[in-house]
Formats: sequence, structure tokens, C-alpha cells
Amino acid sequence: MSSIMPGAMLGLLGGGQLGRMFTMAAQSMGYRVTVLDPSEDSPAGNIAERHLCADYHDPDALRELSATCAGVTTEFENVPAEALQFLEQHCVVSPHARSVSIAQNRMLEKQFLAANGFSVAPFMVIRNSDDLSGEINAAFFPGILKVSQFGYDGKGQVRIDAPHELMDAFASLQQQPCVLEQLLPLACEISVIVARGFDDEISLFPVAENHHSQGILDMSIIPARIPEKIAQQARKMATEVAVKLDYRGVLCIEFFVLADGRLLINEIAPRPHNSGHYTLDACITSQFEQQVRILCRLPQGDTALLTPAVMVNLLGDLWRSRELDWRKVLRNPTAKLHLYGKREARSGRKMGHFTVLAETIEQALRQAEAIKASLRND
Ligand code: ATP
Ligand code: MG
Repeated sequence: MSSIMPGAMLGLLGGGQLGRMFTMAAQSMGYRVTVLDPSEDSPAGNIAERHLCADYHDPDALRELSATCAGVTTEFENVPAEALQFLEQHCVVSPHARSVSIAQNRMLEKQFLAANGFSVAPFMVIRNSDDLSGEINAAFFPGILKVSQFGYDGKGQVRIDAPHELMDAFASLQQQPCVLEQLLPLACEISVIVARGFDDEISLFPVAENHHSQGILDMSIIPARIPEKIAQQARKMATEVAVKLDYRGVLCIEFFVLADGRLLINEIAPRPHNSGHYTLDACITSQFEQQVRILCRLPQGDTALLTPAVMVNLLGDLWRSRELDWRKVLRNPTAKLHLYGKREARSGRKMGHFTVLAETIEQALRQAEAIKASLRND
């Protein structure tokens, strides 16, 4: 199949910051972008050549997208799989509806991973209250009850210490289908971004070490400070997941590293990922440029890391209804600032990030911590 060449219009489902960064990468290579997103004001919709302001199910908008775009991709996993299925009949779509429908549903995702021999946290599926009527295996406690769909940034999750708390917790999640999983003693969390093209070519980005605060990614350290053997195993598992899913596009695999050195898959995201934002400044090719290249059936770019990096998320909480003094970031000549153009700084909302590049991880970490502290102490 032939490549989609610069000048063509690319379609994007979703208008968030991941879409904004995809749009920027596409535009810098000479493509034009049409964003489909239901909100008037969206980070990607605001910079794209066209914004179709409509629901993801809207048949007219989907028809318009398929008629005017040479290829369509997505920036968030909750696009309805039917929308992708429809588009697949008319244009190149990356990733496929099938991969997205598995990755967007925690139940299907866990079942897919377990069935294909990947290690995951011990879990049970809870579809309705009948599933809670029998004896529940004590091995799941303490545990976390997670909604199967539409959870993000730790939302839709309840910690459970004993079986008798389950019914109330399930009710608090509106009895949506859930997965109960054992709370694991984590040594650390890492992620790998893997890209797989229509020609089966695979590229892997360096392993990121991720630190969360209240269920939201706070900081990524690259390369991850883990034994090379674990990094190798993570890259191998990420490659196998992409192949088993028959994935075409950019995919993120989040892992748990346990105290005993075991590596489990936490979840997969069928798109570029927050933990891969460092690739914008620290790698030869960014995760977003790779997404463009794969969608357009072009050769993939080199994913090599140019320098150690630390990425810090800027959440809305920092703003506390004042403007921040961005000189505090930019005073450091190897710190790179990215703001997503969101007007309202709500608590927990991802407003931007900065990445510090340095010769060593320790230096990058020290500088990132200093910038973080100075932004907080305004
Ligand atoms: P996101 O989409 O932002 O990655 P999410 O809402 O899908 O987040 P998870 O990745 O499932 O949520 O969980 C968020 C964080 O909560 C994890 O990164 C980890 O720090 C912690 N966590 C989740 N599940 C477990 C577990 N079984 N054991 C220990 N910690 C866990
Ligand atoms: Mg996660």
C-alpha cells in the first residue's frame, strides 16, 4: 500500500494534549489535520486546520472525516470502537478498532493479557452484583476495585481492605462492570512505548521510570533506574504485546516492578502516553512523530535517547488562581516548557509539562525538583 505524503489531510479522534502534540508533529512535516472532538475549545482542535465539533458517534462527522482524510488516528482510548470500524472501511486507520476495543476495556485487556501468558496482578472480573454473592478469594485483599471503562488518572478506583467492603464500593461505582485486583507491593513503575508499522517494523523507546501522586503521573525519569535485565524483559514483553494485538501505531505498556524483581503488566494505552512526553525533547524521534510516520506508512524514525531526562507534569493545582512565573522553568537553559493552551486550571487537570535534560539522571532530577519547588513556592 502506498504512503500518505505531506500535504495530505490527516484525521484525529480526540482533541486533548496528546492530539495537540500529534497535530504539531504532523504539521511540522507538512500535513494538515482535522480534529473530531465534541468540545468547542480543545488543545488540538484550537491548532488544527479543521475542527469538527461533534460527538464521536456522529455519522455526518465520521463521513466527513473519512471523505476528507487520507488516514485517521486517535489520541485517546475511549473513542467508540464502532467509529473506528466505520472509518476502517473508507481510509487508513491506525490503530485498528480491534486493538482499541481491547485496550479501552480493563476487563478485556486483563483477559487478553492473561490468555496470552503475560503476567498481571491477580484479578477477578465483576460484571454485576451476582458476581459478589459467593465467597471471594482472600488473595485479592487488600485490593483495588477499578471500573472497566472510562477510568483515567486513578479515577473510578476504590481501595478495598476486606471482602465485606466490596458491595458498597461496587455501588459507589454505580455497579459498572469492574475488575478487582490485588494491591501489590511495588518496587517501582515503568513504561515502554512501542511502535509497530503496517510493514511489521517495530521500534521501542527507552524505558521510563514513573512516579505517581494520588493516582496521577507526576514525574518520569529516563532512562529508568532499573537493572538492564528488567529493562530488556520489559522491551521484550512490550514487543510481544504489540505483535499479539496485531497493533499498528504507537502503544504504551505500563508495568509494575515488584520487590522480588518480577515484572507485571499494569495496563496498555493504544496511543502515545504521558510517560513518553520526554521523547519530544530527549529522543531523535518523538512518540508523536512516530505516530505520524506509521499512519502515513513512512519509514520509522530512530528512537535513540540523546540525553538523560526528567519530565514533570504541571497540574492545575499549581495555579491556585494566579499566573505562574514561567521564567522559573526557563531560567534553566536545558529545561523545556510545554503548555497545552487550556484556559481553566482545574485541580488534577494536566495543563502542561516540563522536561529537564542533563548529562546524568541525578543532575536532571536535582534540577527538576528545584524547578518544581520554586513553582510551588510562589
Ligand atoms: P492512567 O490511565 O492515568 O494510567 P488509570 O486510572 O488507568 O491511570 P491505573 O494505571 O490502573 O489507573 O492505576 C493508577 C496508579 O495506581 C498506578 O500507576 C499505580 O501507582 C497504582 N496502582 C494501580 N493498581 C495497583 C495495584 N494493583 N497495586 C499497586 N498499585 C496500583
Ligand atoms: Mg495507568
